Amino acid sequence: ELILAFESSCDETSVAVIENGHRILSNIIATQIKSHQRFGGVVPEVASRHHVEQVLNCTKLAMAEAEVDYEDLTAVAVTYGPGLVGSLLIGICAAKAISFAHHLPLIPVNHLAGHIYAAQLITPLSYPFMALVVSGGHTELVLVNEPNEYQLLGETRDDAAGEAYDKIGRVLGITYPAGKEVDALAHQGQDTFNFPRAMLDEDNLDFSFSGLKSAFINTVHHADQLGETLDRKDLAASFQASVSDVLVGKTMRALAEHPVKQLVVAGGVAANQGLREKLTATLAIEQPAIELIIPPLRLCGDNAAMIGAAASVQLATKAPFADLSLNAVPSLDLV
Ligand code: ATP
Ligand code: MG
Ligand code: FE
Repeated sequence: ELILAFESSCDETSVAVIENGHRILSNIIATQIKSHQRFGGVVPEVASRHHVEQVLNCTKLAMAEAEVDYEDLTAVAVTYGPGLVGSLLIGICAAKAISFAHHLPLIPVNHLAGHIYAAQLITPLSYPFMALVVSGGHTELVLVNEPNEYQLLGETRDDAAGEAYDKIGRVLGITYPAGKEVDALAHQGQDTFNFPRAMLDEDNLDFSFSGLKSAFINTVHHADQLGETLDRKDLAASFQASVSDVLVGKTMRALAEHPVKQLVVAGGVAANQGLREKLTATLAIEQPAIELIIPPLRLCGDNAAMIGAAASVQLATKAPFADLSLNAVPSLDLV
């Protein structure tokens, strides 16, 4: 089984070829970050134009690197949401064109399912498993009961974790996307500010990060007014300690309520070193039997390999194919 997969939901154009749902034959990722940095975030129209320029080249590279012909493919897969409508449409059109020209089934993939199934590129999954999805737009605890069967246990009521990183990073003078640099800074500082751990002790699996973001911004502004300069490393370390305490605390609560053998961490924030360390340490003490699966950095961020992995699961479970009327669904939910 060979799947050609497309991902263009935000600011990465990516095309991959995946064999049997787990083997990456190619995974080309063209990022446009440099074009958006001076605006402090992704500019949708700029993103769409980049995808148009990149998608054909990425496709050619992905096919060449995988050393396969279109005739060898089993199916074409594409992210159809959630994401930026103009960006999504470029990947969708490319996938449709190839599906049409080569008479291949078209598999519509949810971007978040892709982030979750990045784990399948690392190790075989056993059901049910727990997924902590932490990305630029989402923070969710998802129980995956069976292949392609998701149960939303909890989610953020305001900002996503990655979004909070990007917003407080701006206050620290770090360019978008700020997560990686805040993470590095945090490792050189101490948790001296003791920011709030929102909802940590509440009996639910939801999250909230906007209060933490406000507390952070107010602390910095208040010091500014007094003419004081706060230690950026300690600010970053304190913010990161709060985020990881809440993410880990809620995940442990979910694992206590729903027995599983594996915990998958998915999405761009899964790259966070502080989160990885705290999860590893806490699991070892509280749930040593649970296998922690965190994909390598390249598979945590947006990429088409993860879309190919999710598509393979959809193929196996006989999920419906799309036809050539497939449209983008910018606010598509996982469940
Ligand atoms: P979504 O997947 O919800 O549609 P997205 O695709 O924009 O959103 P991803 O590409 O999965 O999000 O992740 C990008 C986010 O990950 C950014 O907010 C970025 O700051 C954050 N991020 C990346 N590396 C790190 C890190 N080491 N620590 C914390 N955050 C990080
Ligand atoms: Mg991105
Ligand atoms: Fe993403």
